[in-house]
Amino acid sequence: MSLEKRSFEDYHEGEFGVLKEADREVYELITREYERQRNTLQLVAAENQCSRAVLAALGSVVQNKTAEGFPGARYHGGCEVVDDIERLAVGRAKEAFGAQYANVQPHCGTGANQIVLTALLERGDKILSLGLGQGGHFSHGATLSLTGEFFDVENYYVDNRSFLLDYNVIRDKAVEVKPKLIICGASAYTRTIDFEKFREIADKVGAYLLADISHISGLVMAGAHPSPVNYAHFTTTSTYKPGGPRGGLIVMGGDYNRKTKIRGRDLALWEHIQRATFPGVQGTPYLNHIAAKAVFFKETLSDEYKARQFKIIENAKRLASSLLDLGLDVLTGGTDNHMVLVNVSNFREGLTGVIAQKCLEECGIVVDVNKLPYDKKSASVASGIRLGTPIVTKNGMGVKEMDEISVLIDAILKAVEIISEREYKIDESFKEEKRNEVKELCSG
Ligand SMILES: *Cc1c(COP(=O)(O)O)cnc(C)c1O
Repeated sequence: MSLEKRSFEDYHEGEFGVLKEADREVYELITREYERQRNTLQLVAAENQCSRAVLAALGSVVQNKTAEGFPGARYHGGCEVVDDIERLAVGRAKEAFGAQYANVQPHCGTGANQIVLTALLERGDKILSLGLGQGGHFSHGATLSLTGEFFDVENYYVDNRSFLLDYNVIRDKAVEVKPKLIICGASAYTRTIDFEKFREIADKVGAYLLADISHISGLVMAGAHPSPVNYAHFTTTSTYKPGGPRGGLIVMGGDYNRKTKIRGRDLALWEHIQRATFPGVQGTPYLNHIAAKAVFFKETLSDEYKARQFKIIENAKRLASSLLDLGLDVLTGGTDNHMVLVNVSNFREGLTGVIAQKCLEECGIVVDVNKLPYDKKSASVASGIRLGTPIVTKNGMGVKEMDEISVLIDAILKAVEIISEREYKIDESFKEEKRNEVKELCSG
């Protein structure tokens, strides 16, 4: 059936019936994934759950449109509608973050960082960032990533006792290293980040500051975590972690229009970002994702979204405190954001992060294994797990459920029989019992 012979509503009607007919195998895999998400506890800190409106935009015919370039300056015909879509997404992103400039084209958070690095740096330029094993992200210059290959990367570290960022130590390191770019923001750090201090450090050594708020951007939009937008030269985020579609975003505050000469081109900083986006790093933007970003940024302006971000933190704080009460070792003794880091190796002799992740998952509780700062174990074994509360909060859970989740985690980690660093056994009937308890909690 061709597109043009049907009305819009008719065309999109019953889409999953169409998929079921066309490809039973994929249809069944998707329904299985739906059931998995529904019947198990999603505590992966890097995940969220987007709205059906966002899903509708993602699955729309906008996906068919190719449009290299930016609104008003495309290399393809037929772009008037997608230009309006992208302009709307940009306007809403600016409003959501209180920014002067927004770029909604990055395909992901990693890509957003690559764009900023490409815009600013030349081969061999110095970056100062939080190490990967310390809670940083691989796109901040880890040796295994292109960013580590092309640039000269130095790391700062969290304190080895408190596990907190020490801004005096970071400043001294910046003075010593003289980086061209400082990156702040983390994948595994549970405390408030002082972006103003980072900017002072950057200014002291004449560096640019990139704040990567992928994990906390929902909190930032709601005012539940201080915003970097007017301190950092560039702020990047993934758009799925705060609850939107997969994708990335770059926003800029007061520095956006600053004229800067880079590789012989004297342009405003935001223009350097545009050039680095296309054709620097990416080709055609994903316009269906951009439409979905527009839908999502509108959602973030609602009272419901904003209130939920505070609730996410309240739940994470409660999860941390009830785990602590049960004798688990929560890093830094709690959290200021959506995330809780637990050292499981300090809970039981021989217990590792990977065993904790796997046995919890067998019982229906989905978390991430996490290498902790100064962890002696490899990343795939690790001493820690990372938990996050965005999805359980979205599903209506509160402090009572956080206590119940803590009790389940404690019981499972006590019941597992440890064989080696990676191997374990868990009693089948115990597992079934816990799975059922989890299922009940999820449907409550
Ligand atoms: C998740 C994350 C990203 C990037 O995510 P993508 O998966 O590439 O979208 C970037 N930086 C930090 C700090 C992250 O936690």
